[in-house]
Amino acid sequence: MIINRFADNYFMSGIKDRKRQLFFTTNLLSWNALENRRVMPWKGEKDPYKIWLSEIILQQTRVEQGLAYYNNFIKTYPTVKKLAAAPEKDVFKLWEGLGYYSRCKNLLATAAYIANDCNGKFPSEYELILDLKGIGPYTAAAIGSFAFNLPYAVVDGNVIRVLARFFGISLSSLSPEGKKTFANLAQTLLDKDQPGKYNQAIMDFGATICKPMLPLCSQCVMRSQCVAFKQDAIQEYPLKIKKAAKKQRWFYYVLAEYNGSFLVRKRSGKDIWQNLHEFILTESTADASAEELLAALFGQHFPMQQYQVRDISKGYRQELTHQTIRGCFIHIVSTKQLKLDGYYPEKKSTLKKLAFPKFITQYFVEKNLDFVTN
Ligand code: SF4
Repeated sequence: MIINRFADNYFMSGIKDRKRQLFFTTNLLSWNALENRRVMPWKGEKDPYKIWLSEIILQQTRVEQGLAYYNNFIKTYPTVKKLAAAPEKDVFKLWEGLGYYSRCKNLLATAAYIANDCNGKFPSEYELILDLKGIGPYTAAAIGSFAFNLPYAVVDGNVIRVLARFFGISLSSLSPEGKKTFANLAQTLLDKDQPGKYNQAIMDFGATICKPMLPLCSQCVMRSQCVAFKQDAIQEYPLKIKKAAKKQRWFYYVLAEYNGSFLVRKRSGKDIWQNLHEFILTESTADASAEELLAALFGQHFPMQQYQVRDISKGYRQELTHQTIRGCFIHIVSTKQLKLDGYYPEKKSTLKKLAFPKFITQYFVEKNLDFVTN
């Protein structure tokens, strides 16, 4: 294989070659000054609160999707103190649809910490930023360099791809050796006089030129020194990591309506969708019929005579990073208040104030239910 023939020698000489490193940094910054046309609302932002919000929203989220959320958050909570003072359920409602809800939980914890323990002032030292809940080395480097000009290089999937291709690094970015190699190299390449500009440039370069699929090599200012280009082996870098098989889960939701209210609960525990709301859930590891589910769920305590099945939805599906959720919704209307541990009745009129996972809101939208807000 091409990589194996060249990689070891080239990798050992290329990655440590100061001239190649300088070529990379100089050409990246000159591309940024002359050709980078990427526009983002938070680009050039110096307010650490806004940078932090944009970075947390963009973790695991595409820019196009995150943009509306960013604008809504800034409009609703223009300062960290305003965010810290907001009721938790309102913030979750604003986050609804973005997924990875632990980000929202950490956002609230960090906002409270900054508002109460730091007098509303964002920490300005790298180690202190890194100590904040929900902030890892990438986000700390982004906030530190953009807001405070701290000399820390960002390392994410974009950066790893660019460095792996340009320097011909065939190490897994998940291995201890790979992690160390990419982190050290990124830090060496960083322009310490203008770390924010450099970090933004490499992020933009990875997103617009050295893209995962069909990189624009013919327009690339790095081409003459790029190992992957010279080897005609661009898709071999970065090293592909085999993904573990996804867990398959079936969620069956019963919307139990009585006298204008539905039984709901807030999800807790270590599972997905923490702090979001849901209807009566029966989980199974395989497909099941609505009749079987209702019989198993209510048994003799709530016999069929006491409710009517109004609707059984089609099957729904949601792909998460490590699991696939399938299932359906069964809407029943009862003649008596059903009582189930952990669930409470919520009026139709106030349901729209609660945050639900996308798996449920897609059902709301499709059924055009009147308590749906989006
Ligand atoms: S030549 Fe192609 S693979 Fe190499 S850095 Fe440029 S865009 Fe990426």
